[in-house]
Amino acid sequence: MLSPLPASVVSRLAPTPSGFLHLGNAVNFTLTWLLVRQAGGTLHLRIDDLDRARVRPQYLENIFRTIDWLGLDYDFGPTGLDDFEQHYSQRHYLSDYTAVLQATLAANPTMVYACRCSRTGLARTSTDGRYPGTCRGAQVEAAVADVAWRVRVPEETLVCFDDLWQGPVQVGLARELGDFVIRKKDGWPAYQLASIIDDVRLGVTLIVRGLDLLPSTAAQLWLAQYLPGMEAFRRVQFGHHTLISGADGVKLSKSTQASSQRGIMAEAGGPVVVYRVVAQLLGLPVAAASSLISLQSALSTARNA
Ligand SMILES: [Zn+2]
Repeated sequence: MLSPLPASVVSRLAPTPSGFLHLGNAVNFTLTWLLVRQAGGTLHLRIDDLDRARVRPQYLENIFRTIDWLGLDYDFGPTGLDDFEQHYSQRHYLSDYTAVLQATLAANPTMVYACRCSRTGLARTSTDGRYPGTCRGAQVEAAVADVAWRVRVPEETLVCFDDLWQGPVQVGLARELGDFVIRKKDGWPAYQLASIIDDVRLGVTLIVRGLDLLPSTAAQLWLAQYLPGMEAFRRVQFGHHTLISGADGVKLSKSTQASSQRGIMAEAGGPVVVYRVVAQLLGLPVAAASSLISLQSALSTARNA
């Protein structure tokens, strides 16, 4: 069981509207909500729509409906589709991302290099999914468009942090991820960079994720130390939850996500399916999963015991 979080805790639900939300998303949202609400902290809804080609209005709509269906609320963030497009879309923050990219290049010109590899070229040369380092010698010229920017991750890079659930964690970043992209070929910021900047803007102090995102966390913690103005990200507390639920063995992995095309709301009879997995992850009795309120009170009881 976790130790209580401070009332100053700030966290976020951070879905991507590139598909209908699946069981893993719903579990993550509910878990995050419980931890933040119990501490009396602040919760944001932060939608990642940088990958505009994959965004669909029905996926956006599904985010709001799923949050309602789960019985969750949040303190800040878009209230619906129009509000999101007008005020919260990441494209409104493009100049912020660009400013950080330029400042990073100016501060550490040798850390960033230009990559001209095509997706198909990469598929041919990489055997393990990591970038083979083909363009490592190429300098970035800030004015040149149409190239991706990658960061040079030294071979021995080890990222260490204390995880809420996993305890002390060590990730060999070069082995797990290799040199990763911080600016895409089209000039837009890549996920790892934008995610740091968004979380710092919202004042996030707690990030709850599935264990499959451990390499991303390591990449972001490592990258943040080189991004001017992003020091606060280094103090974020992370909690990575397991992807397997004990009793019924439902695996919340990518493969399960892919097979659930219709999304959790269409597939589950009710949100109790989600609450049950959350109860298991928190080590609470299954009986606590009958409603969100009973989950909340079981968590308080466990904390005060
Ligand atoms: Zn390349």
